[in-house]
Amino acid sequence: MGVRTLTCPYCVKPMETFKALARDKGPPIELDRCRQCERVWFDVPEIERAVGKQYLSRLEGIASPHKCPACGSAMSETLVNGEITVEQCTGCKGALVDPAELKTLSGGPLVEAVPPVPPRRKLYKSSESDYGDIINELIHSLFG
Ligand SMILES: [Zn+2]
Ligand SMILES: [Zn+2]
Repeated sequence: MGVRTLTCPYCVKPMETFKALARDKGPPIELDRCRQCERVWFDVPEIERAVGKQYLSRLEGIASPHKCPACGSAMSETLVNGEITVEQCTGCKGALVDPAELKTLSGGPLVEAVPPVPPRRKLYKSSESDYGDIINELIHSLFG
């Protein structure tokens, strides 16, 4: 993991890896996401950790027109919990999940462990240095 680059079967664009917080409070999970359609690819252990449940009972449905981005096997549209359709690989059992389905599965959106944009320093200045600046300003205004 981390070396492979998956291709989104919908958009035929390279997917990017990102880290999400696990519901089981363990270390962040590395997942693959399509920038264009925001679908997320899960290996089976990953989806269980992200959703915080055992991978739910499912009914294998009709064949999907897409191939698995991880192993190239056929995928099928699989009904999870009787209400959510995900595309699951018949080979490696990984699943492609769109953002709305994911929210329904886990009861909330995925929370990224690492923000995609580096924080701007000024917004994260410590209160101590703010305090120092105020003191400096005060001294300056009093004693010139
Ligand atoms: Zn896509
Ligand atoms: Zn597969």
